[in-house]
Amino acid sequence: MNKEWEMVIGLEVHVELSTKSKIFCSCTTEFGGEPNTHCCPVCMGMPGTLPVLNKKVLESAISAGLALNCEIEREPRFDRKNYFYPDLPKAYQISQLYKPIAHDGYVEILVNDNVKKIRIHEMHMEEDAGKLIHSDFDNETYPDYNRCGVPLLEIVSEPDFRSAEEVSAYLDKIRALFTYLEISDCKMQEGSMRADVNLSVRRKGEKTLGTRTEMKNINSIKAIERAIENEADRQVDLLLSGERVVQETRHWNDDKRFSYAMRSKENAQDYRYFPEPDIPPMIVTDEMVGDIRNNLPEFMEAKKERFMKQYGLSEYDAGLLVLNKKQAEFFEVVVSEGVEAKAIANWLIGYFSRSLRENNLEFEDLDISPVELSKLITYVEEGKVNRKEGLEILDNIIKGCGPEDVEKYIKDNDLFVSTDNSELEAEIDNVLSNNQKVVDEYKSGKEKVIGFLVGQVMKNGKGKFNPSNVKTIMEKKLKGEV
Ligand code: ADP
Ligand code: MG
Ligand code: ZN
Repeated sequence: MNKEWEMVIGLEVHVELSTKSKIFCSCTTEFGGEPNTHCCPVCMGMPGTLPVLNKKVLESAISAGLALNCEIEREPRFDRKNYFYPDLPKAYQISQLYKPIAHDGYVEILVNDNVKKIRIHEMHMEEDAGKLIHSDFDNETYPDYNRCGVPLLEIVSEPDFRSAEEVSAYLDKIRALFTYLEISDCKMQEGSMRADVNLSVRRKGEKTLGTRTEMKNINSIKAIERAIENEADRQVDLLLSGERVVQETRHWNDDKRFSYAMRSKENAQDYRYFPEPDIPPMIVTDEMVGDIRNNLPEFMEAKKERFMKQYGLSEYDAGLLVLNKKQAEFFEVVVSEGVEAKAIANWLIGYFSRSLRENNLEFEDLDISPVELSKLITYVEEGKVNRKEGLEILDNIIKGCGPEDVEKYIKDNDLFVSTDNSELEAEIDNVLSNNQKVVDEYKSGKEKVIGFLVGQVMKNGKGKFNPSNVKTIMEKKLKGEV
């Protein structure tokens, strides 16, 4: 971007809460499902039905508000936001305008080794709308109301961002806080976290804000970064050529790498907000807030610090382990089984993440007994089972087809490294006598062919022999020392 200019960005982030039921009825919030099977008269907006607030939504919102260092509103209220859209059958959305559940907070982000505070203007609760399915088959559009009434939190930041990196650090931070709170899975690709980017530009040193545009619902952090760079350049070009930026909503097409205007921006007045008459104002007591505050989890940074201190891990290892709360907790259980911290850290950061990636799985998908895994790691680390075979077992465990009893499996399949050298020596003699030509090559000075011979023994041993042991004994035999 042009060096004399700066971008100014404010974000509106929507997060879908992972409560079991919807915000104002008892329908399931489960993602997907046959269209229009997760709904009822309430979430389909039938006249005469009454919404009842799901208490879990209020509790999740309070914990989120505290995690965002916000003040919690003690008399929050819901308001109606009126607009028509085919996926909004009531023709209004129940949201919060006048008394949102949380306000005046901040989060700290780390960009280029600098800590920066991003102020949170407010966070409110609202219901999600349905979806429109555009059918290629008959060229029609069909509404699916399954998502109607799924609870959302909307977090509105102050216009404090000055770069795309700051924006992605902030989104990572919100995801970390909310997944640690276990109130949302924050998956952008599934739409459970969505960000609207408000962006304006101005000459550096300028104090007043420029006219902004808004880009809605971009579904990956990478795409958001590209959209930001592109929009900032577009606005600077406009202003430099003497034109104006029009306040409007733009759609970012990430495949074609350009945006286009969708509609001129509505203001709050356009929605004719008024207090939702079907839901009485709520009272949030000190006791409720106090209870929730006392039960907040240890968050990512604190956990990382503790892992470094308590387990002697490097900052790098600790940082990777705590990226996922489930993984961090799993790590601690395995350590409590007596496995050395550095060993399990290496397994999780290395083999686990590789195998998860290859199998297109996430840590949450795994169903692994920490006790059984501890045994496997211990056997491999102590050389009782060869790494190759150990990792094959791990791979099967990750795929969900591993043994339930690791020790029994290893015994049944004769995978323990043999401590009986006579068995090994017999196998070495066998390989040497069957490969006379290779043995002659070795003896004539081509010593690296020993790799092939060791490989043959290892192959025939099917995991029973230790490779360095095989090599030592084989060398002795080839040199006539034994
Ligand atoms: P609206 O109610 O019209 O959506 P808000 O005042 O709620 O507008 O602001 C929405 C978001 O836009 C906030 O995150 C805010 O920080 C951001 N924002 C407001 N003005 C600007 C601006 N001139 N440039 C960049 N971001 C802005
Ligand atoms: Mg807004
Ligand atoms: Zn319902």
